[in-house]
Amino acid sequence: MSRPHRAALRLVPEPAPGPQARTLGAVELLPGLVRASLMELSGAVLRRGEAVFAPADPAGVDAALLAACAPCFGAERPLGIGVAAAGLVDADAGVIIEVNDAPALRGYPVRERLARFGVPVHVEHRARLQVLGDRWFGPGRGRSDFASVSTGEVLGVGILLGGELLAPPGGRSGAHMTVAGRDRVCTCGARGCWKTVATTRWLRERVAGSGLPATLAGLVASADPQAAAVVDEYAENLALGLLNIQQLFAPGLFVLHGEARDGGGGFRERVQRRLRAASAWSPTAEPPVVVVSSTVVDDIALLGGAGLVLSAR
Ligand SMILES: [Zn+2]
Repeated sequence: MSRPHRAALRLVPEPAPGPQARTLGAVELLPGLVRASLMELSGAVLRRGEAVFAPADPAGVDAALLAACAPCFGAERPLGIGVAAAGLVDADAGVIIEVNDAPALRGYPVRERLARFGVPVHVEHRARLQVLGDRWFGPGRGRSDFASVSTGEVLGVGILLGGELLAPPGGRSGAHMTVAGRDRVCTCGARGCWKTVATTRWLRERVAGSGLPATLAGLVASADPQAAAVVDEYAENLALGLLNIQQLFAPGLFVLHGEARDGGGGFRERVQRRLRAASAWSPTAEPPVVVVSSTVVDDIALLGGAGLVLSAR
């Protein structure tokens, strides 16, 4: 099947002639919030726009989208606009299928709505897209295989495999992979999802009533040995999902975003150690490396949108 927005990646951006080709457009569509950005080809932000809408009011989405995008793309035509959308996305149709907590976005034709700016519009799930942010603007530059991981309140993995974004229709971003016993019920209704043991929500529940800090940063700073044990448990739980990724795709590099950065070097090293142990049998596999992104957390989805524009050329 032809997927023009998932064309093979180019290793070097090639600025096309004309001022309109020197910028990239990115939009992040979240429950109740639209963020937009006009970026240089380097990923540096030139302009930003942001607008909120009532998550249950379909009529408000159009207005919010326009309010956020007009300051960014109104006067200048970027090379394209990459939309990083929460929820379930039909990337080929450019339509949001459904977003939990935001019925206003059900069936929302975001590509059609952005056509007014007169440039190509590409749509993908935001957790998948962040790998393109890292690919073009972060630690994944120059690589054709690696994984980019959201941690914290949301959990997900974007995978670049053989230079292409791994984004099959009907696939998801990993949060609901079954990795644990059946005693933990997920928000999706299933049991044992990765999300039930490796998010900030799990951390809060894990330390509830213990007197320990309820954040990874607080636990790392604590002198209590029980705090250190919870940090280790969090790292092990995060590694559970990543081990499956390594087993299947051996991406070699894992870029962690979000809360994992609060875990410091010990947390990162523990995850890396687990991944290396799992692939030590192979004489040819690249020993997995885990790095923590220094990108502003809020911008990684927008960078992914901009990366999607570059990748889709
Ligand atoms: Zn689930």
